[in-house]
Amino acid sequence: MNPNLHDHDLIVINSSAGKDSMALTAYVARLVTAQGFTGPVVVLHNDLGVTRSGHPVEWPGVEALAREHAERYGFRFEVRRRERGGLWDQLLNERRKWMSSAARWCTSDQKTSQGIKLVTQLVEEFRAEAGITSRPVRVLYALGIRGEESDNRARKSILAVDEAHSSRNRTITRWHPIRDWTVGEVWAEIKAAGLRPHAAYSWGMSRLSCSLCVLASPEDLFLAAWLRPELASDYLWAEQELGHRFRLDLSMVEIVGGLHVAELEQAGNPDARTALGALAGVIRAVVQEQQDAKNADRAAAGKPPFPAKRVNRRTVAQLDKVMRCARRAVSLAPGRTPSREAA
Ligand code: SF4
Repeated sequence: MNPNLHDHDLIVINSSAGKDSMALTAYVARLVTAQGFTGPVVVLHNDLGVTRSGHPVEWPGVEALAREHAERYGFRFEVRRRERGGLWDQLLNERRKWMSSAARWCTSDQKTSQGIKLVTQLVEEFRAEAGITSRPVRVLYALGIRGEESDNRARKSILAVDEAHSSRNRTITRWHPIRDWTVGEVWAEIKAAGLRPHAAYSWGMSRLSCSLCVLASPEDLFLAAWLRPELASDYLWAEQELGHRFRLDLSMVEIVGGLHVAELEQAGNPDARTALGALAGVIRAVVQEQQDAKNADRAAAGKPPFPAKRVNRRTVAQLDKVMRCARRAVSLAPGRTPSREAA
């Protein structure tokens, strides 16, 4: 279901420069041409900032790439940053806990809020230029979300008025035109458009945006940490500083530790065995701690404790997962090439 673009005054396309954003930009451009829409089309990229060592939390080069995609179609390009600080500042100075699927403040504060601020600016500009005073300015706000990525995304309407952010001055309609696309259809659109993807895809990443996204697959997290060790080191520091695991099921200690073991193994270094034993000890301590907490809850509820051997079983399973992902990352990019900071 495509909207009639002429029912809207201006279009905003959100772009992280990732594959879904690229397909979205190309698709909207096709529709703009097909329908002869002549209003403003603006591509918005949100800059999420850098870590304490100055490493961008997103893949290096994404802003330039998003600009390249926008310019390809002659669309206006805008970058927005949260005035009170980027992701890293917000994490360390305000939130003091990692984001998660249940507490996705990174998206709401670093992206959504900044997008709405841009809409406010664009609406004022449009109102002044077009001399519209008698009705709301109609904004079509396009996002490249896909249902394959989560149930929550699959449930989103393809086209719906954003009542929360609409007002007397503006009507914002959220548009998710690629919601039902498969990843194959996304890449086909990009290929047909001839847009340049970020090099991280050729290195084996399945998603872009933040290199170390809390919602990423374990495979992507290990590969990103392998390709960007300085960034991983900053995230490891933050995990220790906050005293809060990066993810409940996967900590930065496990990611960095697993990669260290895999690197030693790859080099045929005999210290690999000792390092693997040390990593197993770290994992075991965490599993034991989690089981102790659960057993305390069970005791309070009058339930019997989990058996001690469950700790061994879970430790082995976690170590297997960690080392499988770490070895995969190291084998995909032996010697950490291509350059981790290149776009
Ligand atoms: S990529 Fe992940 S960590 Fe970054 S803003 Fe999006 S959800 Fe948050």
